[in-house]
Amino acid sequence: MKCPKCQTENRQDSKFCVNCAEPLVIVAPVDEGFRRSSLKKKYAQGKNPLLAGFLSLLIIGLGQVYNGDFWKGIVMFISAVILFAPTSGIASLLILVWSYRDAREVAKGNESLWK
Ligand SMILES: [Zn+2]
Repeated sequence: MKCPKCQTENRQDSKFCVNCAEPLVIVAPVDEGFRRSSLKKKYAQGKNPLLAGFLSLLIIGLGQVYNGDFWKGIVMFISAVILFAPTSGIASLLILVWSYRDAREVAKGNESLWK
């Protein structure tokens, strides 16, 4: 590899330049496409935030299912059911608020889907 400082050609595994002793940092080529696709978040498209919020108030998690966030909706619904008795409904109420808020934000495209 070439020394970034003096342009001397060094062996590929050299850690320092033979000419000027400059450290040879191996810069891994960043695959932009790969990085973008691994970071890429999915967003709901063409969803009605009012309807999504309404559905979540109707049944916890239904707004998520409507948004295409199937698993998030399932997790919300099951958590709300399981935690209802042990927390005297408090956890379920919090999940309801979360579900309502999340359904609206995801439908608006402000937050990404769980994918
Ligand atoms: Zn050099």
